[in-house]
Amino acid sequence: MIDLIAGIDAKLDTLAAHSLTRRRRVADSACAPRQVVDGRSMLAFCSNDYLGLAAHPQVVDALREGASRYGAGSGASHLVSGHSRAHALLEHRLGQWMAPYIDKARALYLCTGYMANLAVLTALGADADAMIFSEALNHASLIDGARLAKAAVAVYPHGDVARLEQQLQASSAATKIVVTDSVFSMDGNLAPLPALLALCERHGAWLVIDDAHGFGVLGDTGRGALEHFKLHSPNLVYMGTLGKAAGVGGAFIAAHASVIELLVQRSRPYIYTTAAPPALAHALQASLDIIEGEEGAQRRAHLAALVATLQGALRLERWQLAASNTAIQPIVIGGNDDALRAAAGLHEQGLWVPAIRPPTVAAGTARLRVTLSAAHTHDEVATLAHALNELERSTP
Ligand SMILES: *Cc1c(COP(=O)(O)O)cnc(C)c1O
Repeated sequence: MIDLIAGIDAKLDTLAAHSLTRRRRVADSACAPRQVVDGRSMLAFCSNDYLGLAAHPQVVDALREGASRYGAGSGASHLVSGHSRAHALLEHRLGQWMAPYIDKARALYLCTGYMANLAVLTALGADADAMIFSEALNHASLIDGARLAKAAVAVYPHGDVARLEQQLQASSAATKIVVTDSVFSMDGNLAPLPALLALCERHGAWLVIDDAHGFGVLGDTGRGALEHFKLHSPNLVYMGTLGKAAGVGGAFIAAHASVIELLVQRSRPYIYTTAAPPALAHALQASLDIIEGEEGAQRRAHLAALVATLQGALRLERWQLAASNTAIQPIVIGGNDDALRAAAGLHEQGLWVPAIRPPTVAAGTARLRVTLSAAHTHDEVATLAHALNELERSTP
């Protein structure tokens, strides 16, 4: 008899030998800077809850109210019977939010950003004579969406607009789709979206923007990367996630109404899954209220001030703070073991910062992915900076 488990264990052993085993910590309390993790009180710098809305009382109350009104689950997929008034109202509002940037904008709410990216790329890239031009540092969900699409795929180097232009020029594809993260999730820097959009318009290409780390935080009213860069084009397809800065869960795609209608009719990651609980859509109305209101503006301003505090307090010599002005402030260390040891050193002091290793980042660039939230205080950020300075000094 063949020992099936032995083959699996050998793979797990290989991961362990390369310091690539991942371990889940169990959070005993809500997502917040101070939380109980594996039974211990920690100061966390790891969530994508950039505005501190995940445990915001107004959002939690709205979730409770949504559950009272609509129940716990949706009961079916959107096209069968799971599409509730809460979903419809959220989509209507998000469509209006994106109307200044996309003509005839309409929005579609999906269960996760991962599925939204699969939905967009499989729909736009459904034909074999289409081509997807994918930025080298794109999120795994975009890579998987490109794999699942029938379209051919070309990867362009990080931030390299000139190289992308050559690739677009050389391509005879009937449909061209350029796809990029707006804020790179493991680096924190921004894609050159205005230049990319100009290029896409010249070459008749779609520009698909994954704004997972921009929605809620970029732009004066938190509408994200399109507002930040003041972009406007019929070529834009926008994906914003609602489990990060918006603090709840799910994602939306905003595009011209015809694109959205095609997704509703044809997109398998949209059609063949149970609709997210309507209560989530209801709770998101409270998130959007905060994001677009005075409190949202204050939270974004506080977050920007925290970033400046961190940058001003770090005195690193060998470890490298990435060039980023967003809430993602990674510190590149290099080796997998070294990054793990640094994370462990912080953990001993009650500071929770994740070590990010390949394949999430390139080999030799393992890092501490520090993320800040408007829920942090300046003192908490100073504590982290001091600990990092000391840790680097005491590391051989
Ligand atoms: C988190 C993330 C996603 C996936 O969104 P989920 O809603 O968590 O599934 C997609 N793209 C990027 C860049 C992300 O960081």
